[in-house]
Amino acid sequence: MTDKHQQKMAAKKAVMDAKIAKATEERGILILMKGNGKGKSSSAFGTLARSLGHGKRCAVVQFLKGRNETGEYKFFRDHPMVDWHVMGDGFTWETQNKEQDIAAAERAWETAKPYLSNPDYDLLIFDEMSYMFKYQYLDVEPVVAALQQRPPHQNVIITGRTMATPLQDIADTISSVQDERHAFRLGVKAQLGIEF
Ligand code: ATP
Ligand code: MG
Repeated sequence: MTDKHQQKMAAKKAVMDAKIAKATEERGILILMKGNGKGKSSSAFGTLARSLGHGKRCAVVQFLKGRNETGEYKFFRDHPMVDWHVMGDGFTWETQNKEQDIAAAERAWETAKPYLSNPDYDLLIFDEMSYMFKYQYLDVEPVVAALQQRPPHQNVIITGRTMATPLQDIADTISSVQDERHAFRLGVKAQLGIEF
């Protein structure tokens, strides 16, 4: 029993070691966190904590304004190594004024874009950016171009339920968070410290 287990583990380790030996490249990656389940933005902010822990310089641009002051904003905003921009003021969504929505999206992109040419920043988070493409408030091509031209060491995380195909085409890591169950549907209201 133990022998068998040891053999199995040794074989697993050999496979893993071979994979590790093959992954030799060092460069920044584009991560997409998509899907309908809960955990996309919180994953991005977990990675933010990880990078900051190592002394990396980071920036967060939130394309949609949700709650006024989220826990993550209150926690990270005073950190000397992170810039935090809550954009998305002025969105009227599909209902009223598309031009105003486009203007709001463009303001957010104008805030985000310069970071993609600034090598001082190691990690960028563009939270809920995917909606800009879904609702055609922003063209995806200039965003793809800026992502492709960014400093080679720079990591970028984009979150949002649905991702534009051109972003998926250039991404290095794509995680899809599946919605199996959500407390909201059990009648639990959004909770401070958990949802925002
Ligand atoms: P989180 O910020 O908690 O990681 P998220 O970024 O994956 O969530 P969003 O699509 O940005 O999810 O939605 C943000 C808010 O909506 C959060 O309060 C989250 O708990 C809630 N939410 C996420 N997925 C669902 C779902 N499937 N049903 C109901 N509410 C959801
Ligand atoms: Mg989110």
